[in-house]
Amino acid sequence: MQHTQPLVIPQKEKPAHGDANIALARKYACRGPRYTSYPTAPHFSESFPRERYLDWQAETDAGTRPLSLYIHVPFCNDICYYCACNKVVTRRRGVASDYLDRLELEIAMQSKIVGDRRPITQMHWGGGTPTYLDSGEMTRLMHALSRHFALQSTAEREYAIEIDPRTVDVSTIALLKGLGFNRLSLGIQDFDPRVQRAINRIQTPESVATLVDAAREHGFRSLSFDLIYGLPFQTVDSMEESLEDVLRLRPDRIASYNYAHLPERFSSQRAIDRLALPSPEDKLRLAELIASTLESAGYLHIGMDHFVLPHDELAQAQSRGRLQRNFQGYSLRLAEDTLGLGVSAISQIGNFYLQNAPQLDSYYGLVDQGELPLRRGYEMNAEDRLRRHVIMSLICDLHLNKADTGTRFGVDFDRHFADALDALTPLAGDGLVTLGDTELRVEPAGRPFLRNICMPFDGYLAADVASGGRFSATV
Ligand code: SF4
Repeated sequence: MQHTQPLVIPQKEKPAHGDANIALARKYACRGPRYTSYPTAPHFSESFPRERYLDWQAETDAGTRPLSLYIHVPFCNDICYYCACNKVVTRRRGVASDYLDRLELEIAMQSKIVGDRRPITQMHWGGGTPTYLDSGEMTRLMHALSRHFALQSTAEREYAIEIDPRTVDVSTIALLKGLGFNRLSLGIQDFDPRVQRAINRIQTPESVATLVDAAREHGFRSLSFDLIYGLPFQTVDSMEESLEDVLRLRPDRIASYNYAHLPERFSSQRAIDRLALPSPEDKLRLAELIASTLESAGYLHIGMDHFVLPHDELAQAQSRGRLQRNFQGYSLRLAEDTLGLGVSAISQIGNFYLQNAPQLDSYYGLVDQGELPLRRGYEMNAEDRLRRHVIMSLICDLHLNKADTGTRFGVDFDRHFADALDALTPLAGDGLVTLGDTELRVEPAGRPFLRNICMPFDGYLAADVASGGRFSATV
């Protein structure tokens, strides 16, 4: 395939977990998008057709079609060196209150445009650190949302909040339950003290266990941990110990992310000693170790970086074709549209992607003038929608019905995607994907290569790479 950057593989020092996979990873290692959207966010533009979006909204009666909300809280108390999020590190008093003043104004404006009767089947508070807000501020924000949107109390809803365990105690867990959240996502990353010091994020397994116990006592349906591999000083031995701590707590979902070291883009990453990072081959071993340990412990590997216990709804959602991938990772597909609220938040509504102003001052300036704080956007065309369907089907459902896709989008699939199917032939030869007459199917061995399998269907990738687009390693 194009864009391939060979990995430098040093002499092995330890027995490898899955040598066959490591050989395949070496063969297919390259850089590419994570496909949390298609087209990817760099294609969003400041010259997007804002008026056309607003006209379309005015002409469209969304009625009671379900809606998903994403709320961005940008503040953090301290910097984690690996961080690539849009955040503001501050302990200045009053910043959250100032932010909520503007967020409330935006919530009121957006509900009039997007529709205030639409059942909110999904909600996700992300950041930054949503739990930077104190109890009163979180309550204020939820009440503002409930005044302007049709929040739900049914079991069939997914209301999630990202938690930095260092910022909450058991009383916060009770509050979150009372506010209507039913899913908690805890940022763990790694339990090894040396790794934690190197990334400036210290939290003990004991403190996390206390929160997990409280979450279970309060009946949270789903508890998720985020882990990161590829951090400084991580080794197979240290990861084995961290995974033991994780498995003792047995979260329902585990997201395991590949750390992308891009210090030229994210200044806090310059505090990470490049020489302490695991080599590419060691990183692959860490990924292998995480997958094999979690699968042996009874977790199912869904999508490309998520592991779930069989009772979890995400496991069933995949088999029923109700899994979706968006900027928050994988989730149930309970709504077609997502409205992003807050600085830098991204919406996907109809054929439009929309992103709010990424800096606080510009976000505040627009909202204070009574304007929607939109800064960038993109309107998908028919070809985008077709390619988006193909990529999201492969990355979520792990298969694609070619005939159905051709009928739905009015194309002869094999002819339309002849180049992509040619590019996938070597991956099919290695047993990663099956190119059948009626369907494409990702094989179990192809799971770590999902991004590679999607990339040939990306109509913009060649141009992105030619213009110097910077992506993370695919495996
Ligand atoms: S990783 Fe999370 S808590 Fe740490 S700086 Fe980034 S957004 Fe803040």
